[in-house]
Amino acid sequence: MSELKPIKIPEDYNYIAYFLTLACNLKCSFCINYFGTLGPAQKHLSGPQWVQGLNRITSRDDLPITLQGGEPSLHKDFIYILNNLKSELKIDILTNLQFDTDEFIRRVDPERIKRKSPYASIRVSYHPEVMELEPLVKNVLRFQDAGFSIGIWGVMHPVQADSILKAQERCKSLGIDFRTKEFLGEYNGRLYGTYRYEGACEKLSTKRVLCKTTELIMGSDGSIYRCHSDLYEGRAPVENILDPAFQIQEVFRLCDYFGHCNPCDVKLKTNRFQQFGHTSVEIKELTEEEMRRSG
Ligand code: SF4
Ligand code: SF4
Repeated sequence: MSELKPIKIPEDYNYIAYFLTLACNLKCSFCINYFGTLGPAQKHLSGPQWVQGLNRITSRDDLPITLQGGEPSLHKDFIYILNNLKSELKIDILTNLQFDTDEFIRRVDPERIKRKSPYASIRVSYHPEVMELEPLVKNVLRFQDAGFSIGIWGVMHPVQADSILKAQERCKSLGIDFRTKEFLGEYNGRLYGTYRYEGACEKLSTKRVLCKTTELIMGSDGSIYRCHSDLYEGRAPVENILDPAFQIQEVFRLCDYFGHCNPCDVKLKTNRFQQFGHTSVEIKELTEEEMRRSG
């Protein structure tokens, strides 16, 4: 293979996400992965391929690579990847913690997954619908005792909000950082979440727009996508992390799927400086001239 050029992350980028797999060992009814139609199953790059691809990236201390999914630990080389990324790259993990935690604690140095940040580097999702709280709490305390930066997050889904708040109380009493997250998606015919662009997630129609992202979204086969919606729906990627010439281009790209955006891309949220009002993508209407030229 030709030499892979280093990839510089642009200053205004706020997130680097590597989806090791979209598969999960749980099945939550409100999982954001199923907001649209999940595209065909993707292939998976091996651990060594991922290490080669991700180690091209030059990022900042406050911008980690977030390993997520699905459930990232389902990748057979999950620990290999953690242990072989270059030390300059900070790592965050989003997980449901339903894996062999003994092996993880034995093989991973807690200092490797730690950085100066207002929130924990290992962020565990708690889903009362499919998980029991006490075994999870026990596991999180073991991670904490071993020196890991770990916390639990609960989604404030309308039917689970009470259980989440009770779980938060319990965790606080044990010294576990437990935070809540806004529920994004549909429930009982209502779309929950605060979005910057009207009609973006309603799935009622599609419109051609121009769209630019501030996130590096990588699927399990190394594909780079314009957004979460493209990733989950299996639309054509724009690049691949193993393409030797790949460089991030901060450009507006044509998209024919406005109206089917994923809430993660267009919701109003806090950026890495904890400032509210940020969205992952910027969307523009096409002028008549641009519309004509785009065919
Ligand atoms: S644990 Fe997370 S990824 Fe897995 S089904 Fe539940 S919400 Fe989806
Ligand atoms: S308009 Fe929506 S679907 Fe299209 S690229 Fe942007 S976020 Fe993705």
